[in-house]
Amino acid sequence: MDKHGSSASRTEIAMIKVYGTKMLYNAIDRSIQVHGALGYSADMPLEEMYRNARASRLVDGADEVHKVSIARRTLKEYAAVEGFPTEHIPTRRAAALERFGDLLDIEVLNS
Ligand SMILES: Cc1cc2nc3c(=O)[nH]c(=O)nc-3n(C[C@H](O)[C@H](O)[C@H](O)COP(=O)(O)OP(=O)(O)OC[C@H]3O[C@@H](n4cnc5c(N)ncnc54)[C@H](O)[C@@H]3O)c2cc1C
Repeated sequence: MDKHGSSASRTEIAMIKVYGTKMLYNAIDRSIQVHGALGYSADMPLEEMYRNARASRLVDGADEVHKVSIARRTLKEYAAVEGFPTEHIPTRRAAALERFGDLLDIEVLNS
């Protein structure tokens, strides 16, 4: 945000909202575990932190909504290509079989 402004950093902001809040939640969850039942009681500040950390995954938009917007903005930077992507496993497997099939024991491969 300091370098490019908040508008250009929208994807990174959405990412930190998803992963930062999850990290916060996990850290407090582990702290409660370390403190046992005392950590879960209102005698410690952890239970209030826990509730707030849980809410942080909803406040300002649910995690899922941020993930959708991250995916939309990320995919905008790519153009569709003809055929399947190069990482498409069935396509790669078929190509490998065509090239090396005669070297393989197909019966063993399919078992
Ligand atoms: C403690 C607290 C403080 C708040 N403070 C404020 C405030 O100050 N100002 C303010 O304006 N609002 C505030 N909110 C409201 C907050 O912004 C909303 O709770 C939040 O945007 C989620 O909306 P919702 O609760 O209507 O959940 P919904 O939109 O009904 O979502 C419920 C669930 O549905 C699923 N979901 C929703 N949309 C999608 C999607 N597009 N794709 C996939 N799954 C989806 C998710 O699992 C999500 O958790 C506060 C909320 C809390 C809990």
